[in-house]
Amino acid sequence: MKKNNFNPIVIVSKNSAFPGSNHSDCQCDCDTGDCACTVAPRTIIVDKSILLGEGTYQRQNTSSYQKLNGEFSIWFSPDHNPVVTNSDADKVLFLFNGARTVSSALVSMPKDKHEVACKVAIEFIKAGLLVQENQITTFNSTHQTLTSWLHITDRCNLRCSYCYLPHVREDMSLETGMAAIDATFRSAEIHQFKKVKFKYAGGEPLIRYETVLALHKYALSESQKLRINVEGVLLSNGTLLTKERAEEIHNLGMRLMISLDGLGHSHDVQRPYAGGHESFMDVERGINIALSEGITPNISITVSSKNADQLADLVNWVLEYDLPFSLNFYRENELSMVDKDLSFIDQKIIDGMKKAYKAIEERLPEKSLLASIVDRANLSSPHQMTCGVGNNYLVFDCNGQVGKCQMLMKNVITNLTVLDPLGEIQKDKRGILNLSVEEKEGCKTCEWKYWCTGGCSLNTFRATGRYDVKSPNCHIYKALYPEAMRLEGLRLLKYEYPKQQLQ
Ligand code: SF4
Ligand code: SF4
Repeated sequence: MKKNNFNPIVIVSKNSAFPGSNHSDCQCDCDTGDCACTVAPRTIIVDKSILLGEGTYQRQNTSSYQKLNGEFSIWFSPDHNPVVTNSDADKVLFLFNGARTVSSALVSMPKDKHEVACKVAIEFIKAGLLVQENQITTFNSTHQTLTSWLHITDRCNLRCSYCYLPHVREDMSLETGMAAIDATFRSAEIHQFKKVKFKYAGGEPLIRYETVLALHKYALSESQKLRINVEGVLLSNGTLLTKERAEEIHNLGMRLMISLDGLGHSHDVQRPYAGGHESFMDVERGINIALSEGITPNISITVSSKNADQLADLVNWVLEYDLPFSLNFYRENELSMVDKDLSFIDQKIIDGMKKAYKAIEERLPEKSLLASIVDRANLSSPHQMTCGVGNNYLVFDCNGQVGKCQMLMKNVITNLTVLDPLGEIQKDKRGILNLSVEEKEGCKTCEWKYWCTGGCSLNTFRATGRYDVKSPNCHIYKALYPEAMRLEGLRLLKYEYPKQQLQ
């Protein structure tokens, strides 16, 4: 290597996801960001004296990489965040193809490069790309947030083709809602959660707007007495939002998720009004009202074979508005099975998603999309379970019965009168099982396992009759994860690299 011709660059993803992404506002309520498995607390303390002395390190043997352009690559593995490197940094990394101390690894480099190369090695160790022999990734099973789904009403003014609800005329009364909030706080105290997230859902919760408002005010006042942080998210179709409502929602500090599946027709074929007419224009109006009142709605997009072709147009539109969004895969249920056009044709979904990614590439947002662009996968931090079901998630139906997953509301586990509904949910072994990815056949050796976690348990069970196997969407996921990683690499190059150069 010639002098002054060695300029290694290492950029580590900081997971600067959009606030409210990580599927935290999605209709499905797969609360990956707060799920029981949570993030691997890989705190690697780098002591320079150990580095230069006895500590031996080697390249993480599960890491994969792909080229971003002629100069930069992105590295990723099941248990470290994505890392972008240039070819000079890669030269340092390849010195650790076998286990060795930093000082012995650097012997083959000219002496004047040692200081810089040593700093790069430290960056790799901190990032988890260089590991000590037998280093094991550990997972933090303590979760901070208890999420509570309040099924405000079963009624809805839309008839989405994939909806799993019967739309009976059933509402949650104010008294039941308050009792559900009390029950949630009881469990939060018993299990020492620091935060509770209430999801006001349905059906269309804005049909019962006054109830939602009263419930959230009650939740806020109780949270102050109990000193537990509280967050409220309204999961809406957006059609019934008015300026006054948006203003009140904003003043109460609630977040808003709006479902939108396409621009015009591609939305309307999946999400028409009960009478069959189009809803897109009203949803668009709702989004604009929200924005004018200072709310940034999170857009939840359900991808099926019906709208996959037009997905890129919608993604382009959402990026133009600079809105956070999540791409969620359609999940077949008993009521939606009749609509065969929704069913996944794998290649159609892959092609549609890749076109959408192309749109993202052309308009890369500053915030990371890793948590929200491949269905339930959260590629922003390693974890072991897809959602909080059975661990830190309560679903209250209109009558105060408690279940594990909103798509299985009839599967009642307990009710709001018990002292600790979450304890009953955690004990239950009859209903849906939310297994760790380590327990899923086909996933254990997968390079994506701690990002993918094997997909939605319910979806897998419906397709295979088992919880302990990989997702029926595995083929699609594996085709998309490298693309999603590539996008993250390009984003890091566009936004993080210039910042790093300024430091
Ligand atoms: S579902 Fe497929 S991609 Fe996901 S962890 Fe399992 S094997 Fe890997
Ligand atoms: S089991 Fe599936 S549908 Fe239910 S909350 Fe989890 S990811 Fe969502």
